[in-house]
Amino acid sequence: MKWSEHARDEVLRALARVLPDQRLRPCSFCGATEWLLSDAFVGISASSEFFGYPVEEAKSSYASLDMIFPFVAMSCMRCGNTHFLNLRLLGLDHLVRGPDEIVPPTPRLMPK
Ligand SMILES: [Zn+2]
Repeated sequence: MKWSEHARDEVLRALARVLPDQRLRPCSFCGATEWLLSDAFVGISASSEFFGYPVEEAKSSYASLDMIFPFVAMSCMRCGNTHFLNLRLLGLDHLVRGPDEIVPPTPRLMPK
């Protein structure tokens, strides 16, 4: 789905659901309280298979890059400290997949 005002509204509603008292906290780096929500989805690639060598060695590295995790970014307006919020974990997976796509596996939690 393309980023739109509708998508932005859904993201803001999802953030309001998870924020204690619906307020953003001060930046953990500089203490400022003004945040910028990205007007676009951020995809971070990940690999289920990976091996590699240091760059100085002649062998090349290999990563499958077979997964993309969808995020929105919130940046501190003063220092640029940026938080990436996973849209799937916010319950907004429908914003970043087409209607005919296969639903990805549910993320597994790390054992405690
Ligand atoms: Zn900051």
